[in-house]
Amino acid sequence: MKVIVTTGGVLSGLGKGVTTASIGRILKDRGYNVIPVKIDGYVNVDPGTMNPYEHGEVYVLDDGSETDLDLGHYERFLNTDLTGESNMTTGSVYKTVIEKERRGDYLGKTVQIIPHITDEIKRRLRKFKDADVLLIEVGGTVGDMENMVFIEALRQLSRENENKFLFVHLSYVPVIPSGEQKTKPTQHSVKELLSLGIQPNIIIGRCETPLTEKTREKIALFCGVRPDEVLSDPDIEDIYDLPMIFRDQDMHNILVKKLCLESKPVYDFQWEDNVKRTHSCKKEVTIGIFGKYTGLEDAYLSIKESFKHAGAVNGCKVKLKWVESEDVTSKDFASLDAILVPGGFGSRGVEGKITAIKYAREHKIPFLGICFGLQLAVVEYARNVCNLKNANSTEVDPDTKYPVIDLIPEQKGLSKKGATMRLGAYECDISRNSIAYRLYQQDKVFERHRHRWEVNPEYIGVLEEKGLVFSGKCQGKNLMEILELPNHPYFVGCQFHPEFKSRPEKPAPLFAGLVGAALKSKKS
Ligand code: GLN
Repeated sequence: MKVIVTTGGVLSGLGKGVTTASIGRILKDRGYNVIPVKIDGYVNVDPGTMNPYEHGEVYVLDDGSETDLDLGHYERFLNTDLTGESNMTTGSVYKTVIEKERRGDYLGKTVQIIPHITDEIKRRLRKFKDADVLLIEVGGTVGDMENMVFIEALRQLSRENENKFLFVHLSYVPVIPSGEQKTKPTQHSVKELLSLGIQPNIIIGRCETPLTEKTREKIALFCGVRPDEVLSDPDIEDIYDLPMIFRDQDMHNILVKKLCLESKPVYDFQWEDNVKRTHSCKKEVTIGIFGKYTGLEDAYLSIKESFKHAGAVNGCKVKLKWVESEDVTSKDFASLDAILVPGGFGSRGVEGKITAIKYAREHKIPFLGICFGLQLAVVEYARNVCNLKNANSTEVDPDTKYPVIDLIPEQKGLSKKGATMRLGAYECDISRNSIAYRLYQQDKVFERHRHRWEVNPEYIGVLEEKGLVFSGKCQGKNLMEILELPNHPYFVGCQFHPEFKSRPEKPAPLFAGLVGAALKSKKS
């Protein structure tokens, strides 16, 4: 197993996740088996309990792990399904070590950061021995107190495995008003890395513009690499272009040579073809997203990406209009070709989302409701079609007379909040003759979940009687997974999150269906 480590310098938010994913893609296109791992320095065991406004979306894997959103980039760029082992946090490492200590595994010893914490980090990383290349992204910026111990563990591992490690440092190169690219911040951040015992082998300059020859030479001279080992990561419109931008700078050959990887004569152009096809799309649809974290697009990152994939299969670009659901007015519906209500928690902004759903249903605007979006579509239908006045979810109104959405029985009485939702991939049986079947072309699908509430089985009868169709169900558990309306161009809700399995090479069917319907209704 060879290892590539990516670290970040100067600033956070440089797109280290996309850079790491692009390096992975370059290697995958050449036929190497790549496994990515994200290291996060925070003390939370996982990001599941964090507010998406602070940390961006919580990304859910098949195995139910709640992970950092960079895992989403990795899965999309590599078209692979990862496990929770690909996300390591300070909290999770300490938890294991402290549990071992309490069990008595270290009896007689003083348990210390070095070697016990570093050993646990190394133990976890060694488990990926089946990978040709293990790709490790260290979150945050070099010099942060919270990722020091991880960098130390990686330094130790690299010493134990001479010639098997490659350190890639992504750093910021600002452009001052005169137009000059400045390398000093990069020089300082490489010094910081050197003080931790690590000499980077490749430096990537994140800059508005491609790095000039002069800038590359200067970074090379001051940072101990050759000019051809300094690469550019300029501003781009489409993140999916980045693997090609790196490839055009010969990154693949540098990686193969430096890691002494067995060279493979293959090159898969599928990714590039796909990206080119997307760029050639001329048509456009506008989709309104009614959510409560619309101020931070990262809070809905996978949804944003899913629309790119869904646009490409429909031959169109998708423009997203973010609407804060707390203050919805009729003006918000102007010029929308479709409406999406994403997942959510709590009562803020709920009535605005319900207004949007009602509008979509009555005006026959294509609609997709995800998780909370499905639940609120049921609330809207119960109130306005089934005449169940003030029907609600007990999450929003615990005393509602008509609790059409209620806690899943297994969820009742749970007090712990971390990793206790219904999480991960569960099966959904799809009925024939439905929109869902037309899109999935399968009787059974596995999609990822993250919720505690469900459609209350006691109200299924009345909802169905009034025309709502549950076309997807988790049979064994009587959980309603997909709803739809006949006599509507596209009114679909799903209890799961299809955005977590959408890839450029495999768009999520329910997103593709929404964009297709938007395009059709725009024409008519
Ligand atoms: N709050 C709802 C629940 O827990 C919906 C969750 C979501 O949209 N992910 O069931």
